[in-house]
Amino acid sequence: MEKRNVWSRQINEKIKENADQLYRTDYKFYKLDRLEKITVKIDEFSSTCEECQKLKTDIETLVETIHLLANGSPSDRNNFEKNNESYMKHLSENHGLVQETYYLSKYTLLGILVGTLIIGGISYIINPLYAKLGILIGFAVGLTIGRIYGKKLDKAKKLEGLVL
Ligand SMILES: [Zn+2]
Repeated sequence: MEKRNVWSRQINEKIKENADQLYRTDYKFYKLDRLEKITVKIDEFSSTCEECQKLKTDIETLVETIHLLANGSPSDRNNFEKNNESYMKHLSENHGLVQETYYLSKYTLLGILVGTLIIGGISYIINPLYAKLGILIGFAVGLTIGRIYGKKLDKAKKLEGLVL
């Protein structure tokens, strides 16, 4: 067992233990599976990042409130979600981490938008009758390029170990 992972292993055991009363769907809904991955990353970065070091204490406290997700008040749940999101935010803003298929979703959408606008626009300028066809072609081309590019970026992030 690697020494630096001791903390995250303990926390992740605690998460499972405290989530005992939760339904499986709630486990996903409150992103506890993601919290487990976040914990591992924060453990790794905490040797060089003060903020992550601080977040460790935060997470220790948060994990003790997991039972509130099953029978606490709505504000308890909101509070949990807010904290859970703030860890992800720190990891993505300061350490460049992304969630699975982040770039694929982003560039597919962007590709469709740009493709439709450019090819649709050019077709319209050439002849307004071509606009509809141009939009269709633009959609297909943008979708294809966006997907290829997004997948490539996701893959690169994954190789760097920066995908959750
Ligand atoms: Zn950090």
